Amino acid sequence: MTFHLLPGGFYIFTEKKTMRKSISFLGILLMSILMAKAQDQLPARWDELVASDWPKALEKSSHTCILPIGILEKHGPHAPIGSDLIHVREWAARVTKKEYAVVFPDYFYGQINEARHQPGTFALPERVVWDLLEATCDEIARNGFNKILIINGHGGNPQLIRYFIQTRLEKRRDYAVYFFDPTTTDSAFNEKLAKLRKSDPSGDQHAGERETSTLLYLRPDLVKMDSAKNESGANQQRLSIPNVYTAIWWYADFPNHYAGEGVKATRELGQLITEHTIDLLAKALKAVKEDTKTLQLQKEFFDRVKTQ
Ligand SMILES: [Zn+2]
Repeated sequence: MTFHLLPGGFYIFTEKKTMRKSISFLGILLMSILMAKAQDQLPARWDELVASDWPKALEKSSHTCILPIGILEKHGPHAPIGSDLIHVREWAARVTKKEYAVVFPDYFYGQINEARHQPGTFALPERVVWDLLEATCDEIARNGFNKILIINGHGGNPQLIRYFIQTRLEKRRDYAVYFFDPTTTDSAFNEKLAKLRKSDPSGDQHAGERETSTLLYLRPDLVKMDSAKNESGANQQRLSIPNVYTAIWWYADFPNHYAGEGVKATRELGQLITEHTIDLLAKALKAVKEDTKTLQLQKEFFDRVKTQ
């Protein structure tokens, strides 16, 4: 029988009859090391945490929960129905590796009436959308979070989200809702973006070059580039009333629920945009975690509202 010293001081037996036992011993050892490592790491996703780690997660996140909101809707002829959800899911997963927060599981209940003529669209009644968002935030807060950071992947949601946040002042709440709403003045990024982008930025919207590129970076396995040319993503301009907003404007312009040229997408452009977005999100998340002013001002405001 011979012994070999393995890194870390473990011995392996090379005699045949003890080989099987030694291998299973090593297997158990490896498993224990991996399990110990897993126990050290606190998952970010709400659904992956164990209940006994909840206090640790609250403390590590500074009581901050990310609520990633996507939607289920057609994305041209080539990109997945859950494109917007995939974006926010991936941003949340990646940003919390840099800056810890708890991430609420997939949420895809937003405003998407304009795509109801297309397959795969999941559009709930308006009151359900509203009540669900409100109840979700209340439940997140009941579980100990006093800061909720909404990240959104769907172009039809910001008006809903802003109005929802404005109405948080309607009655006293002991938590605050924040909306990650990035704009960038980073000239180096804008220069690189202009260089890589091949289509006209003004027409590059839904499932166009930009969005298809970020999907090629995040989930290339789900994009059917060969189909991107099968429909037109051009603005069909079927309705024009100057300076007036209507419900049907999007359908009038983009009845295929496709706006832009997905066919021009590249992984390289997707990487640039995604990594930049994640950097901005990491900064925003850090600032939200450190923020005490919002809740303090909110309390001061409610103390002055006399009808409560
Ligand atoms: Zn989208």
